[in-house]
Amino acid sequence: MRFSPLVDRIAGRGSAAWRIHFEAVQRRGRDGKDVILLTVGDPDQKPPAAMVEALVTSLHQGHTGYAGIVGPMKLREAVAARVASRTGTPCTAENVVIVPGAQAGLFCALQLLAGPGDEVILAEPMYATYEAAVGVSGATLVNVPLKPENRFHPDLGALAAAITPRTRVLWINSPHNPTGAVLDRQEIETIAGLCRQHDLWLLSDEVYEDLAYARPHISPRTLPGMAERTIVVSSLSKSHAVPGFRTGWIIGPAAMTPHLFNLILCMTYGGPPFIHDGALPALTRDLPEAATLREDYQRRAKLLGGTLADAKNCRVVMPEGGMFLLLDVRGTGLSATEFARGLLEAGNVALLPADGFGPSLAGHLRVSLTQPDERLAEAGARIVRYAASPQAVPAPAEAAPRD
Ligand code: PMP
Repeated sequence: MRFSPLVDRIAGRGSAAWRIHFEAVQRRGRDGKDVILLTVGDPDQKPPAAMVEALVTSLHQGHTGYAGIVGPMKLREAVAARVASRTGTPCTAENVVIVPGAQAGLFCALQLLAGPGDEVILAEPMYATYEAAVGVSGATLVNVPLKPENRFHPDLGALAAAITPRTRVLWINSPHNPTGAVLDRQEIETIAGLCRQHDLWLLSDEVYEDLAYARPHISPRTLPGMAERTIVVSSLSKSHAVPGFRTGWIIGPAAMTPHLFNLILCMTYGGPPFIHDGALPALTRDLPEAATLREDYQRRAKLLGGTLADAKNCRVVMPEGGMFLLLDVRGTGLSATEFARGLLEAGNVALLPADGFGPSLAGHLRVSLTQPDERLAEAGARIVRYAASPQAVPAPAEAAPRD
């Protein structure tokens, strides 16, 4: 039987990189090895107690019916009030739609903004699901490279040069996964200016908004003339260590909301009301666990970055935000996959070859900071040992990067 051509458009390039991860999981489960997984970005910390309590109470109260299609009003109002007070830019419930995680938010937003014949500009490397989300919409993805020598910040001239009459959407992600780059005010202003000048939508993935360290996170929605053309997508997954809550939101002009209603109606028909109730404390209060999370990632980046500074022929790219750091292994002469495979075999540490996020990350590995400090310290020591082993030290003729 034949599937629709859509199946080809959703078969992204990220899958090869995840092979190492699945091998590592198997190694741990089947072979009982002490494997340290630094591949996925699944927070290791416990969820905030107030959220769990609110969720359980809601279940006991029998809140298991259908919720509103675009989310319950009290949750939309809570997101709106939080955004308005954090940014100083007006936001009402009419601007907010609740979705099952930022991923669903990006997917839905894109279906409304672009279609066949349209172009969506995205810097590369990019988060692994983006390509397929553009693929589903039928639009064409236009990539602009982020270079290691610019610390993976965009070349704004190249971004402007990529705009054509077919461009409909400029899509940004700051703090950025996988590079950890946090855009500064001037960069955000220039990007916003391009959107106004060329009448483009700006899609802003702000899922790591609470994990910006090097400089404050700035949402482009707050800039003059941008609220009407910016779609912000975010969630509680990273800020509150609850990816399993699948609770996120889309913020945009009020005209967006009825279209999202129609899309969600034919897709998920709204989310689980008891989880919405569990999410409320995170949106109406500053929960102490959220502040701790932020400190955890920053401290862990420093800790592991410090250890990896001793990894022979490797270079650490410290994050400006988020929960990952990058390890540049080009100096070893091994490809990212070769390094990852060798490290898994010899040291039982799993890192993600980052070229799955885009060719500009050839020779880089993404290292997740979602393990307790002592496990990270142990992983760091194993990586340093592997980098100094004969397997990873380049023979003189092979010193050039191969991927
Ligand atoms: N965007 C980026 C950049 C991400 O890293 C992730 C999750 N890793 C998502 C979106 C999806 O997040 P959520 O759990 O809210 O769907």
